Amino acid sequence: MAPSGPGTAGPLDLPITSLRGVAGRRSEAFSRLDVDSLGALLCLFPRGYEDWSAPKEIASLQDGEDAAFVAEVSRDPTLRRKGRMSLVRTVLRDGTGAIAAVWFNQPYQQAKLSKGGRYLFRGRVKRRDLAFEVSNPSFEEAPEEGGVGLKSVYPLTRGLSQGVIRSAVHEALARCDGHLPEPLPVPVRMEHRLAAAVYAYHRIHEPDSREDVGIARRRLVFEELFLMQAGLRILKTRNARIRTAFALPRGVAIDRAVGRLPFALTKAQIRVSAEIARDLARDVPMNRLVQGDVGCGKTVLAALAMLQAHEAGHQSALMAPTAILAEQHRATLERLLGQEGLRIELLTSATPAARRRSILEGIASGAVHMVVGTHALLESDLAFHSLALAVTDEQHRFGVRQRVALSTAEGTAPHVLVMSATPIPRTLALILYGDLDISIVDGMPAGRLPIETYTAGETDRPRIHDFLRREVAQGRQVYVVCPMVEESEEQDLESAKTTYERLSKVIFPDLPVALVHGRLKAKEKSEAMEAFRKGETRILVATTVIEVGVDHPEASVMVVENADRFGLAQLHQLRGRIGRGPHRSVCILMADDVSADAMERLRTLCRTHDGFVVAEKDLQLRGPGQFFGVRQHGLPEFRIADLYRDLAVLKEVQESLDRLLAADPLLESTDNRCIAPGIRSRFGTLFPNVGI
Ligand code: ADP
Ligand code: MG
Repeated sequence: MAPSGPGTAGPLDLPITSLRGVAGRRSEAFSRLDVDSLGALLCLFPRGYEDWSAPKEIASLQDGEDAAFVAEVSRDPTLRRKGRMSLVRTVLRDGTGAIAAVWFNQPYQQAKLSKGGRYLFRGRVKRRDLAFEVSNPSFEEAPEEGGVGLKSVYPLTRGLSQGVIRSAVHEALARCDGHLPEPLPVPVRMEHRLAAAVYAYHRIHEPDSREDVGIARRRLVFEELFLMQAGLRILKTRNARIRTAFALPRGVAIDRAVGRLPFALTKAQIRVSAEIARDLARDVPMNRLVQGDVGCGKTVLAALAMLQAHEAGHQSALMAPTAILAEQHRATLERLLGQEGLRIELLTSATPAARRRSILEGIASGAVHMVVGTHALLESDLAFHSLALAVTDEQHRFGVRQRVALSTAEGTAPHVLVMSATPIPRTLALILYGDLDISIVDGMPAGRLPIETYTAGETDRPRIHDFLRREVAQGRQVYVVCPMVEESEEQDLESAKTTYERLSKVIFPDLPVALVHGRLKAKEKSEAMEAFRKGETRILVATTVIEVGVDHPEASVMVVENADRFGLAQLHQLRGRIGRGPHRSVCILMADDVSADAMERLRTLCRTHDGFVVAEKDLQLRGPGQFFGVRQHGLPEFRIADLYRDLAVLKEVQESLDRLLAADPLLESTDNRCIAPGIRSRFGTLFPNVGI
């Protein structure tokens, strides 16, 4: 809860330091958790609960459980020190038995307990030989009877303890009483049986029972998803209503181009292409997402849409996440549309200044018909003569923010076509792309052979090398992919370089092996890719720069090093680089010394080729943040909603919004007026300048 607009400064906006006992180091610790105000503190939701509600008898404690029990201290605790370590020991007893208690490095506990004191303890119980022991139990005065309910467990950082956070939250709840905003309209709450905000905030932090937590959590999850969705849907309505686009009637050029293709379009391609063409013909800006498994043939759909823009006399742009891909797309457009007499330019951060100037001039005058590029296309000095269509490929790398930037630019709105590389489960697509219409290319070009996928280990290397040698001898080409983990680019680069050295000098000194990675200059990168495309290089060692989009049918073998370090969806994406031609394709996932779980995860890929199934599994195993790649996804950070667990709530949110928006498209009625401030305060940075 950030400030929710002018004139609303209240206790929620008070700094965290206004709480008793929070200053200096502690307030710094809070700010490491992104908590600087009382409102933000109340949104620091527990990551779990300790159950102190039903104390057990000592005789019934089980090995390994976290349990609460009421007991008497049966002898004064002893303290032993050894260097910087310390150990406090005592014995706890109730009518049914006794248990040893130990505290490591908490010498102060000795003074807190004395023989005969009765307390409620809670901790992890372990069997030691024949006796039970509880280590580092927390404790408090024993209540008259029963337990003391549930206690929240918060994410911690150095300098904060659960106790400190709990009492800070307790005070913040009291101070904010009567000031908690309620962004959900009453009828929505009634209809979906959602608790009021006040109730939810109190009970999520200080519940009496699991049931309380469930009710509170449901309400808060609903709210978070609702505000995000409402933001996207309002954006969609505003885009459609307020801004007009060039109407691009479908002419004859498309059929001409389709006739020249070296293949027949699949049924799915024909259907989606028609959906796009229909959208483009209207003067309402299109906002459409095309989803389809890797290799289903999305590029040609973009090319046809761009041709439609051209035939109507306007320009189009195609934006890709990497320079390698941008260059490949430009070549594809030339190949598919070259005979239409088009000027198609490439613009990346590597385009030389003079060349760039001349391209910009061409874009401004209309002499350039289509431009393909990277993020460089978003730069502000790019002025189009008449941009009618903006296509972004491999969208999940751009994210909501960039999309909003693109679609809220001044002037006539371009039609926006988004092509997603990673199949995303439909419900999730709605959260990410709620402002878009969705088309699914659900079929593959005929004749594709499934990619044989295997896991392998260090001992298999000699056999794998023989296999690679045979494949290369038969004219095939090979990718060897090394992991790229954002945290340590340096180290990853090292691993790619080492692999390259080993393969080029030791194993295949007689074969042309090359290395391509993200640190190369754009020109070097594209030369390396070009050499591979031409077949001059037979084995290409690469980091994940080749992950997206690269299309080279002669490459039919891929070896992925340290495959366990990749997500499943990413591996599926990588593997999609092969299996694009008529040859038998083989993907080998190298994984050594990995856990049984990790191995099982990888085997999923050996079993299935359906990207939607892989995505679903990946999402389930790793959660949405990881699924989309930590920093690249553009997915808003949810505080409480879990896009996998909470799909049912998301569905309710969709239904609720469908109904509300049908009656009140911009959510401006008296009932609904509480929503916009909620969107602003929760997702303000995601929807700047969209009039919410
Ligand atoms: P993606 O959907 O992963 O972006 P691409 O557009 O790169 O896939 O297409 C993959 C390959 O399939 C390309 O070589 C493309 O020329 C080819 N292709 C596309 N559509 C068809 C089709 N209908 N029949 C045969 N090959 C096709
Ligand atoms: Mg593609």
